Amino acid sequence: MSIYLIGTKSFWTILTVVFLRYLVLAGVAFFIYYMIKKQAWQFRKIQNRFPLNKDYAREILYSVLTSFIFAGVGFAVFLTPLASYTQVYYKVSDYGWGYLTASVILIIFLHDTYFYWMHRFIHHKSVYKYVHRVHHLSTNPSPWAAMAFHPLEAVLEAGIIVVVAFLFPVHPLAIGIFLLFMMIYNVYGHLGYELYPKGFAKSFVGRWINTSVNHNMHHQYFKGNYGLYFLFWDRWLGTLHPDYDEHFHVAASKQKP
Ligand SMILES: [Zn+2]
Ligand SMILES: [Zn+2]
Repeated sequence: MSIYLIGTKSFWTILTVVFLRYLVLAGVAFFIYYMIKKQAWQFRKIQNRFPLNKDYAREILYSVLTSFIFAGVGFAVFLTPLASYTQVYYKVSDYGWGYLTASVILIIFLHDTYFYWMHRFIHHKSVYKYVHRVHHLSTNPSPWAAMAFHPLEAVLEAGIIVVVAFLFPVHPLAIGIFLLFMMIYNVYGHLGYELYPKGFAKSFVGRWINTSVNHNMHHQYFKGNYGLYFLFWDRWLGTLHPDYDEHFHVAASKQKP
């Protein structure tokens, strides 16, 4: 079998993993919150109305395109001669389980900072309409919006993997766990329902954690709330929407007692 064929096969394998991860996580959330519990839990929805079928279709279509970009970047970084310049290692024992666990946490914090600044950049008026407008077509996002990016934005989103692979020793398992966490948090961020309990946004820890209400407001108002997992940068730089606490309280109060 030629190297070309092996390469092609690996690309399709990565693509399948990336797309299935999206399909299963967003699909399960959609099935529960937008189908079987749609009527029973509608009172809990952050924005009362539901998106239209054409919105779901657009979100899924762009997510398919994003899957191709993510798979392409993953393939280029890990399965081409470029891989020899990265710090990826394959034997867990080289650095131990403690390091592997710490590296996952480090990647999450690093990604949060990477995302905040990239997000600020793509909101700049000279860039926005070419790169980020597609994601903001969902003013009332559904779980399917979790990967609904313009291909140019998808390249920037995938950039965190490139940064991590070249910056410090990283095991593929750490990247896999991180990507799974990222996808779960992205589906939650676009869920349209709040899951954290009442009072969370004002609590000692919760003040610094991003919520579904927070990102939903970003889709509704376009300005403010640029964070991903945490609210450090939004709070430090004053980019948190002034009505966030109130919106969170309203949404979280709708939860079943
Ligand atoms: Zn945005
Ligand atoms: Zn979003």
